[in-house]
Amino acid sequence: MLRLSGKPVFGGIAKGKLFYFQQDENEVTKRLIKNTALELERFEYAKAQAVKELDELYSTALEKVGENEASIFVIHKMLLDDESFCGKIKSRILDDHFSADYAVAQTARDLTHSFANMTSEYIKSRSADLKDVCDRLIRHIQNKSEKRIELTEKVILCAEDLMPSETMQIDLSNVLAIVTCYGSTNSHTAILARTMNIPAIFGIGAEKLSMLRDMEAVVDGYSGALYIDPDEEILRELSGVQEAEAKKREMLKRFKGRKNITLDGTEIRVYANIAGLNDLNYAIDNDGGGIGLYRSEFLYLGRSNMPEEDEQFYNYRQVVERMNGKPVIIRTMDAGADKNIKYFGLAKEENPALGVRSIRLCLMRPEMFKTQIRALLRASVYGDLRIMLPLITDLDEIRRAKALVEEAKEQLRARDIPYNEHLKIGIMVETPAAVILSDELAKECDFFSIGTNDLEQYVLAFDRQNLTLEGYFENRGHRALLKFIEMTCDSAHKNGIPVSICGELGADLDLTEDFLKLGIDALSVTPSQILPLRQRIRTIKLETPKQLGSRVRS
Ligand code: PEP
Ligand code: MG
Repeated sequence: MLRLSGKPVFGGIAKGKLFYFQQDENEVTKRLIKNTALELERFEYAKAQAVKELDELYSTALEKVGENEASIFVIHKMLLDDESFCGKIKSRILDDHFSADYAVAQTARDLTHSFANMTSEYIKSRSADLKDVCDRLIRHIQNKSEKRIELTEKVILCAEDLMPSETMQIDLSNVLAIVTCYGSTNSHTAILARTMNIPAIFGIGAEKLSMLRDMEAVVDGYSGALYIDPDEEILRELSGVQEAEAKKREMLKRFKGRKNITLDGTEIRVYANIAGLNDLNYAIDNDGGGIGLYRSEFLYLGRSNMPEEDEQFYNYRQVVERMNGKPVIIRTMDAGADKNIKYFGLAKEENPALGVRSIRLCLMRPEMFKTQIRALLRASVYGDLRIMLPLITDLDEIRRAKALVEEAKEQLRARDIPYNEHLKIGIMVETPAAVILSDELAKECDFFSIGTNDLEQYVLAFDRQNLTLEGYFENRGHRALLKFIEMTCDSAHKNGIPVSICGELGADLDLTEDFLKLGIDALSVTPSQILPLRQRIRTIKLETPKQLGSRVRS
């Protein structure tokens, strides 16, 4: 037996076979060749192979997801038939003496750059297709096969790291647990694992990679331990842990239907964070007081085209209807950074966390933003739907977003479609700028929700994806962060609006008392954390509600 350890991401014990997913890497180095005829042949061969593969993909997709989704493979084939595209590659081989894979990579780079700078959404989205096609060509030139996460049995999924878009493509019903070599516990893949109750450990370390293949193992998501070829003793021990956890969960059920109320009578709202319709059952089962954060960008991830207005509308409407009158806060698309959406065709950035993401991207692509807003407005008549704008740094962004909301309303009026005229619009406070300007921003919105995941990374200057920095600060509730939270609460209350926390820190039971004493009105957490939080709130005495949290004072 071998014991490896990483960071616990979501508690749970899972026993099964390890399935190691090795991501594709297209490494292309510059190589100049003499025999251009041979290189042209390699290109033509790769092209023929790619066309064959696309035909197969089209047939499978047609069966599984229908004509609409499948048509992307026809578009990719058309690119391979395009004479001007192929001509460019050939001329790189014949005139510049580039090797075939380098010629494709260079052509892709040139075209992607010119596509990305165009204003047309259509052309921009085509640049992602171009990249896809070129990657496919390069793979065939280099004789590599495509890697997809195809799971045919229940396994413990291991990977070096997993992108949210990859996670979205997996059939999660076959995933017993997730183990990664890298990846931070604050990443979106970690958040997804937590939301979907999948035991997970991140940061096992790359040097252990070779062991993570096809062996029998047990994941202890509570402690972050991975046992390869576990012996009887550890299996007995872990089954004890499992029983104790099951008892704890059973005990927590007593809190269902009760209030989140402090010993001195202050009621705190506790909501659920979700990333899609599948998470709704968890939110309801755990007695969530509503949805405090629906990360709507997950609707855009793991697919090849933009979700249309109708598709979005039906999705949001289901959430609102199933929450049966309880508040549902839907955050507008917050893509970018680690949530990279290929078909957006965004240029590569040095610092994606500080780049074209979130509300910035939406304001740069107003038609895309308005499509989402129309869907949200249409769903707003089915319950208490509220809109939340992410990554706000200034008043101007709120005003521009609201102007687009007004345009979307106008478009719906022209189509005679009803919406809630009094729909509330709030913002995520997750940049230092938003905190500093919170008094002004509060006057422009109906609520604040503090995104501690991003606020923490921007206030403390540490990359939330960087596992090495986890634990660098003695405790997660850094005093500077608590002061920022205090300031946000004061501005919100001064202007008569409520303030919540929807970042992962909101579920940290060691900080609940601090948060409530700083003036937080609501907490929005992973569904499985709702009842533990309720239990915790019911043990807290606020005394004077405005009293500062002890850590801020120290
Ligand atoms: C946050 O930043 O705290 C947040 C809730 O949003 P996300 O984790 O999706 O960036
Ligand atoms: Mg955020």
